[in-house]
Amino acid sequence: MNRKETIEALQLDDFTSFYNKANEIRKIEKGDDVFIRAIIEFSSYCKMPCKYCGLNRKNESAIRYRMDADEIVDIAKDAIAAGYRTMVLQGGEDPMFADGEILLRAIHGIKSIDSDVAVTLSAGELKRDVLKKLKDGGANRYLLRHETTDEKLYEFLHPGHKLKDRIRVLHDLKELGYETGSGFMVGLPNQSVESLANDLLQLTEIPCDMAGIGPYISHPDTELSGNENGSVELTRRCVSLARILLPKANLPVTTAVGVLSPEERLKTFSNGANVIMRKVNPKKYKDAYKIYPAELDETDIVKERIELENMIRSLGRVPV
Ligand code: SAH
Repeated sequence: MNRKETIEALQLDDFTSFYNKANEIRKIEKGDDVFIRAIIEFSSYCKMPCKYCGLNRKNESAIRYRMDADEIVDIAKDAIAAGYRTMVLQGGEDPMFADGEILLRAIHGIKSIDSDVAVTLSAGELKRDVLKKLKDGGANRYLLRHETTDEKLYEFLHPGHKLKDRIRVLHDLKELGYETGSGFMVGLPNQSVESLANDLLQLTEIPCDMAGIGPYISHPDTELSGNENGSVELTRRCVSLARILLPKANLPVTTAVGVLSPEERLKTFSNGANVIMRKVNPKKYKDAYKIYPAELDETDIVKERIELENMIRSLGRVPV
């Protein structure tokens, strides 16, 4: 699909044929497997000013914590015991993590429990030499959403930062041999349908191995508080188009979709998605890591894993 077709598709009254096409392609290219990943949020400190995010440095009411490598590995150990085979280590851009040393120790610790467990990092715009060190140290994948391709909107949302720098990191990741994930938010203030089409095409530009596409959720303690949340239906359209544009990509149903609508979460699996991520942190950390408001239960890793597998089976799919 070209840009014009993508823009037109996003605006159709009836999107059913695209939903069905995306589901067909998902079945052919990815089968019925749904990959389940564990997310460990290792730090809520952040030096970045992202106006939508509850962890941005200006939010004085955010609860800040950081883990050391041992604590990350301990949580991973429980997640591995519960059946998880991929650990996603995500955090704010915490200066304590900028040289990669803590993450490197955490990767080594996780791989020493089981060398086949995949480690995905999502730690913001790290320097190329740090990314190389982490790749050489065993990291397999990296998630860095481009957030929006609208340069003006990007610079408004991230004062002092440029889209081209973030895109450069995505190219670094690809060149270094990471399985590279990007993605964007849907429903940001002043985001146009044209720019969403560009966001989708940007994924093919990298080209991405994974793409996280989620609705923007307004956080009360940010400059954007009071803005409307993004549409989950428009988000699902974007996931379907991403499946059509990138047939082999791994496409999660993002956590943000589930927060706004449990029903949409199920629908998205039938319209192109094949991955789900689950927070495995203890509740005290889940309560602190609030990029957007969400009510989260006490973590019982084993019970939640079983519930998730049952949900996937109820859709006629296979939890992996
Ligand atoms: N510091 C890392 C991880 C950021 S959190 C990084 O820079 O990549 C992961 C993703 O959450 C972000 O990339 C962003 O797309 C999303 N996010 C942040 N705040 C959000 C909000 N208020 N609503 C919806 N998604 C949000």
